[in-house]
Amino acid sequence: MFLTAKFYYEVSALKINENYLKLEKNYLFIRIAQKVKAFQTTHPEKKIIRMGIGDVTQPLAPIVVDAMKKAADELAVKETFRGYEDSGAGYDFLRQAVSEYYKSFGADVPASDIRINDGAKSDCGNLVDIFDDSNIILITDPAYPVYVDSNLMNGRQIVYADSNEENGFAAMPDPDGYDLNGKKIFPDIIYLCSPNNPTGAVYTKEQLAIWIAYAKQHHAIILYDAAYEAFIRDENIPRSIYLLDGAKETAIELCSLSKTAGFTGVRCGYTVVPAELKTIASDGTEVSLAQLWNRREGSKFNGVSYPVQRAAEAVFTPEGQKQVRKSILYYQENARVIAETLTELHVPFTGGINSPYIWFKCPFEMDSWTFFDKMLNEIAVVGTPGAGFGKNGVNWFRLTAFGDQEETREAMHRFRSLF
Ligand code: PLP
Repeated sequence: MFLTAKFYYEVSALKINENYLKLEKNYLFIRIAQKVKAFQTTHPEKKIIRMGIGDVTQPLAPIVVDAMKKAADELAVKETFRGYEDSGAGYDFLRQAVSEYYKSFGADVPASDIRINDGAKSDCGNLVDIFDDSNIILITDPAYPVYVDSNLMNGRQIVYADSNEENGFAAMPDPDGYDLNGKKIFPDIIYLCSPNNPTGAVYTKEQLAIWIAYAKQHHAIILYDAAYEAFIRDENIPRSIYLLDGAKETAIELCSLSKTAGFTGVRCGYTVVPAELKTIASDGTEVSLAQLWNRREGSKFNGVSYPVQRAAEAVFTPEGQKQVRKSILYYQENARVIAETLTELHVPFTGGINSPYIWFKCPFEMDSWTFFDKMLNEIAVVGTPGAGFGKNGVNWFRLTAFGDQEETREAMHRFRSLF
């Protein structure tokens, strides 16, 4: 029996979270996939080169695969079998390894501040659970869409800091505050991402120090996404916000093995909530954010699988670092080829040096969807229109360096023919 919508409405007391209805209907990558599929159907002879979605193409490092296999074998034997992990925060061996990794580039992050997760995306979305929905969120525009979506889902109000050509796509805080419904406000939660997806831009130590001072002044917290830290080559660019004074009292950091070690399909990342990070509850008591977060995770998350954590541990061994560096160098060479082509063609761009993303201004004064169509139809190369990341991306375009080297060279050869 079918219920008409009207009848169902009259008998049902069920209410959905209507904030979901406010989300962008046609998610960026679905629209791209539809366009690519239509093109492939009408041009079956054309070889499409995909430089759009930020997935990696190089296989896992051998040491990682060995560690995963060995851990699977342990699970097959009664004496070494493991079930639930006690805390769900990650095994000590991995939290310790991550802490040592931080130490290798000068950041002091104790294992006790680190929680292991199934990738940074989950925590990007879940962390907001420990904050009230009345908080005002500041997100740089353009941005990784998860920040916007996960806050819209809870009905939070968002203000945007413009990242644009003038500031090199590295937005800085507005000392006068941000406009919200005709009033000037200061944000409570600030999302920063460096190296940035989609723009590839990075914050210097001096710029991050300004953000930290701003957050402190306005009692805000920074959610710092460092998912691409392994791509930073310039020694003056911080790989962690904790390389800066005062960050532990102000910032939560999210990190991932997805791009560092090819874990997009394996799923493992880590979040740092420092013990120093405290706030005051409405009854005046001091509250540790790490305790709140651990409480949330204790109720809703049972940890990452043992073989995956052993695989992640292998990434942080000296041999593991040597092996994953090979893939990173491979992608960095792609980024160099793309950047070289754009430089030759006098196309303005950011990224590509400390980042696997290259963000360029659409040539021929086109908007990003028109340029997307031109690239697809004329040279069969797929990128990502900047419009999908926010209003400041309307005339910009993202290419990723995660592809095959030969294909990247071929794509750039085709790209030149557009001019
Ligand atoms: N943060 C940024 C900026 C990203 O671009 C991504 C993935 O593309 C993630 C976080 C999430 O990565 P994962 O969930 O694979 O760890």
